[in-house]
Amino acid sequence: MRWALLGASRIASSYMIDAIRAQEGAEITTVLSSDTERGRSYAERHGIARSTTDLDAALGADVEAVYISTTNEKHFPQAMAAIAAGKHVLCEKPLAMDLAQAVEMVSAARDAGVTFGTNHHLRNAGAHLAIREAVSAGRIGTLLSMRVFHAVSLPEELRGWRVADAAAGGGVIPDITVHDADTVRFHLGEDPARVVARAGESGLGQGVEDSVMSVWSMPSGVMVQSHESFTHRFAGTGLEIHGTEGSIFARGVMTQEPVGEVWIEDAEGRRALPFEGHNLYHRALALFTAAARDAGAPSADGVDGVKSLAVALAVREAARTGRAVDVDYGGL
Ligand code: NDP
Repeated sequence: MRWALLGASRIASSYMIDAIRAQEGAEITTVLSSDTERGRSYAERHGIARSTTDLDAALGADVEAVYISTTNEKHFPQAMAAIAAGKHVLCEKPLAMDLAQAVEMVSAARDAGVTFGTNHHLRNAGAHLAIREAVSAGRIGTLLSMRVFHAVSLPEELRGWRVADAAAGGGVIPDITVHDADTVRFHLGEDPARVVARAGESGLGQGVEDSVMSVWSMPSGVMVQSHESFTHRFAGTGLEIHGTEGSIFARGVMTQEPVGEVWIEDAEGRRALPFEGHNLYHRALALFTAAARDAGAPSADGVDGVKSLAVALAVREAARTGRAVDVDYGGL
């Protein structure tokens, strides 16, 4: 499969170029950048044949799929152009700046018959796959509650648009709450119905929130508590899922690497839950590539991207107004 990268981004440099190239027969032919020199040096650094500042040129006839990892406000126009050109689209989260745009992207891809994936990498982690399997096999009984904590110290090199530019989609809610929303949906198999939240600036945010805590009501009655932050140096990440017969604990699993610790505690004591250590992004790309060849589905599809964004937008609205907000999934 021949790919174009839409965006000369860090995430493509650090994980996605390698993951694309790990797929048999995959080739990255083009990178799109808004800056000629950045695009040129990015292409040279990564051994990509062409760089361009022209979106139409990036969507040339030789390209079958695009990976979109520009800043968030560009995802919508770039995805719509790629879909119109008949390309498969793997798009970074959050899919768009608002729900209507995200729904439009996903509907357009469906109508055009192209594959659309959202890069929610955590679903691909061995740790999360093992947790989901244990939950769905009933190992902790009837579910009662879930807690997810994803409060980190944002690395220095990422303290640009994420902490200072609302117009580019900055803020911890579009950046990390979307991942937590996807993780909760993945493990619990249902969509949050209503949220309450508090958000604020705790040292890094400049006009955008850098910390948020929220509580989500699930249709089944399960209660969810979520915490995301850019300013917590030593908090660590993880989740807990509690049921009538046991609890699952996971530490260090809200991350890009196949690491962490997962265990179950129940009446018989504490036991480790083993999991596979494969590369998260390689698995995401393998499933996306297969889906584009009509074999299966991406690990997170367009609807998953719309739903994680819907939850994040509800959290932001709840934090802004101080009220409980029903999650609007845009009819999906
Ligand atoms: P970057 O800040 O690295 O890149 C985003 C854009 O910023 C690029 O497209 C580029 O524009 C521009 N840019 C890059 N370097 C510079 C520079 N030195 N000076 C000025 N502009 C520059 O973003 P990330 O890689 O951190 O994030 C990109 C997207 O990926 C976001 O949507 C984010 O939410 C998502 N993401 C997802 C992750 C996941 O694991 N699923 C992890 C990290 C990010 P241009 O292309 O025009 O050159």
